[in-house]
Amino acid sequence: MQQTLGQGSFGWVTLVREIQTGKLFAMKAMKKAELFKYCTIDNLKREIKIQRKLNHPHIIDLDSYFEDKTNVYLILEYAEGGSLFKRIKKQRRLSEDEAYHYLYQTCLGIEYLHKMKIIHRDIKPENLLLDAKGNIKICDFGWSTEMDNLKKAFCGTIEYMAPEMIKSQSTNYKLDIWCLGVLLYEMVQGKPPFTGKNDQEKCVAILSGQQLKYEESVSEDCKSLIAMILQPNPFNRPSIQGILNHKWMLSKQQSKSYNDQLNSRSISMLMMEEYSHSPLKSCQTVVSERKTNNKEWEESKQRSHHFVFHQPQPVNEQPEQTFFRRVLISLGCINR
Ligand code: AMP
Repeated sequence: MQQTLGQGSFGWVTLVREIQTGKLFAMKAMKKAELFKYCTIDNLKREIKIQRKLNHPHIIDLDSYFEDKTNVYLILEYAEGGSLFKRIKKQRRLSEDEAYHYLYQTCLGIEYLHKMKIIHRDIKPENLLLDAKGNIKICDFGWSTEMDNLKKAFCGTIEYMAPEMIKSQSTNYKLDIWCLGVLLYEMVQGKPPFTGKNDQEKCVAILSGQQLKYEESVSEDCKSLIAMILQPNPFNRPSIQGILNHKWMLSKQQSKSYNDQLNSRSISMLMMEEYSHSPLKSCQTVVSERKTNNKEWEESKQRSHHFVFHQPQPVNEQPEQTFFRRVLISLGCINR
C-alpha cells in the first residue's frame, strides 16, 4: 500500500501490509541522499541498533529493515491512532486527566529507555504515537544515543530543547526529563511554553527562566509539576520516579478508575470515530484528513525540522559564542 501516514525528517512514512500474514506495518523510508547530508552511516546504524534492542509496550517496535539504491526502509509497528501532536491540535488542549494518561505512559517508556542506557533526545508530541486504544508509543530514534557513547551534539527540536543543549554544555539523560515538562505544558496549554517569532527568540525564551503563563483552568498542582521539571540546571530536575511521585501524578493515579474508563472507552471511541473500524479504511481517513488539513500539516512539518551537529567543540570555546553561532546557523546566516 502506498498510503501516507506522515512525513519524517528524511522521507515519508507509509502504511504497508505484509503479504503472507496480512499484518499492517508503518514503513519509514529515508532518502539516502538527504540522510547522509546530516548523518553518517554510523548514525543510521546506531538508530537501528538501538531500536532493535528495545522491547516495551510504550515504544514502537522495529520489525525489520532493508535498503535499495535510493532509500533505507524501517518496518515499524503500526500505531493507528496517529500522533499526540495531531490529537492536541484537534482538541486545542487536553484535559488534565488525559494529559496525565499520556505523561504517565511516556514516563514509563522513558524510564525503560534510561534503564537501557538510551537517551532519546527528541521527545515531543510528534514522536509520541497512539495505538488504537490511545496508548503511547514512543517513536523516532533518529537522534537517540547510548549513554556510554555520548558525544557532544547539538540536536533536537528548538521548542523542546533543554538550556544545556542550547548553551552547548555537557548533556545527559536529563535532556529527556526537560522534554517531559515541555510536553505536559503543551498538552494542558495547547502550545509549547517557550515561543518566539523565530528560533533565536525561542532560544532566548528558553534561557530566560521567565515565569510561565497559564490559562486559569490549569491546576496549581499541575503547574507545580511543570515548574519542578523545567529546572534550568539539569541536576535539579527530578528523576522519572520523582515525577511519578509528584502530588499531581499521585492524585490523578487515585482517580485511575476514571482514566481507565477514559482509556478504554473515550479515547478508543474517539480514535474509532476518527479512523473508523477497518484498518485499511482508517488509513484512507487519515490521509484524506491530512490532505485537507494543510495548516496542521504545515505546523507539524515546520516544527519537525531538526538541528544536529556532531562536530567536536574546541575545549576553550565560550558558551555564549557557541550559542550565537548556533543561532546564526539556525537562521541560515552561516553554514555549519
Ligand atoms: P518520523 O519520521 O518517525 O518522525 O515519523 C513522521 C510521522 O509519520 C509521525 O509524526 C507519524 O505521524 C507518522 N508515523 C511514524 N511512524 C509511524 C508508525 N509506526 N505508525 C503510524 N504512523 C507513524
